[in-house]
Amino acid sequence: MRIVAIRECAVAINSTQRNSRFDFRSMDTSVVAVVTDVVRDGAPLCGFAFNSFGRYNCSAMIRDRFAPKLLAADPAALLDDAGTNFDPARAVEVMLQRERSGGHAERCIPVGTLELAIWDLVAKVEGRPLYRVLADRFNGGQARDVVPVYVGGGWYAPGQTPADLAREMKGYLAAGYRMVKTKIGGLPLAQDIERIQTLLELVGGGQALAVDANCGFDRERAFAYAEALAPLGLRWLEEPCDPMDYALYRELSEVYPHALGNGENFSGNRELENFLLYSGFRPGLDVIQVDPPLAYGIGEYVACLATARRHGFGPESMYPHGGNLMSLHVVAGLGLAACEAYTGVFGIFSGFGEEVTVADGHATLPESPGIGFERQPALWSVMRDLAGVH
Ligand code: MG
Repeated sequence: MRIVAIRECAVAINSTQRNSRFDFRSMDTSVVAVVTDVVRDGAPLCGFAFNSFGRYNCSAMIRDRFAPKLLAADPAALLDDAGTNFDPARAVEVMLQRERSGGHAERCIPVGTLELAIWDLVAKVEGRPLYRVLADRFNGGQARDVVPVYVGGGWYAPGQTPADLAREMKGYLAAGYRMVKTKIGGLPLAQDIERIQTLLELVGGGQALAVDANCGFDRERAFAYAEALAPLGLRWLEEPCDPMDYALYRELSEVYPHALGNGENFSGNRELENFLLYSGFRPGLDVIQVDPPLAYGIGEYVACLATARRHGFGPESMYPHGGNLMSLHVVAGLGLAACEAYTGVFGIFSGFGEEVTVADGHATLPESPGIGFERQPALWSVMRDLAGVH
């Protein structure tokens, strides 16, 4: 049992939408295929993943630095003790050989993406969906039956009118979603508040609406938005400022009475620990949004859960960034709060595939072995060609 090839390709997101700071015209992501010598149904068993969204591809790092380490390793060094399945933690150990301390942001995405692909393999070897494997290993066998989901939408788009935004949100509600998130910070404050008021009428109250500033505010603007948003009682205010600005988060947490969100740009457990030590984040209120493929993978995410718990944040505070099958499995298997959903804004990466249905704010779970990209047709055609399997 060994990895025989690791292939990657960069795929364009094909989107003109923008957040408070930049548009996605040139955004792409890396898709990886980890090919093994295990044969199932006449074809080599392959693990797949991609590096979430909004961070560009990490193909060169995978191709030049981390895939060669996995391919050069003693095959037994990548397996569990029994030698009967791959071991993602050991794969990470191999990838981190001869790597300096610190420097996490440089490598957390390529390593995390490969780690997710190896989890896909692990679950496929077991013949079970990934969330059930994660539940058994990390959550006492307890998996969610359905997963609370919310839509990461409400982007700014060229020529967009308030009516366009309302139409978009009505579409999400009609599709079975109950909570949505919209971008803020891409317009002057008064116009953003107008957008939010329109959405509040549609979704039926502040607890069904979160807002995301994508780190776009300086100190002055962060306080202006905090003051204007406070009376609206929104579900959370995500990334108002630089994710590493602990001091400003602390100041905001002292004046803003509702939940703040942060974490999607953390490189892993060490950054989460520092943030929780110094930011004034409030247990039971604020939400943590670390994204596994962007932060060394699921093993690191499990360490993040332990760190969060030590600081008073239980699974109900954990909302992994990234509306895709990878985060859906993580939320279901580890019993976390909710999963993001991107229904149609990220090209072939949009949605959860044909096995998952959404009703009354909850998503069903895929039952295919592994992550289940095989049942997400447009994405699968890219992955299948990459791996050379049919
Ligand atoms: Mg965000």
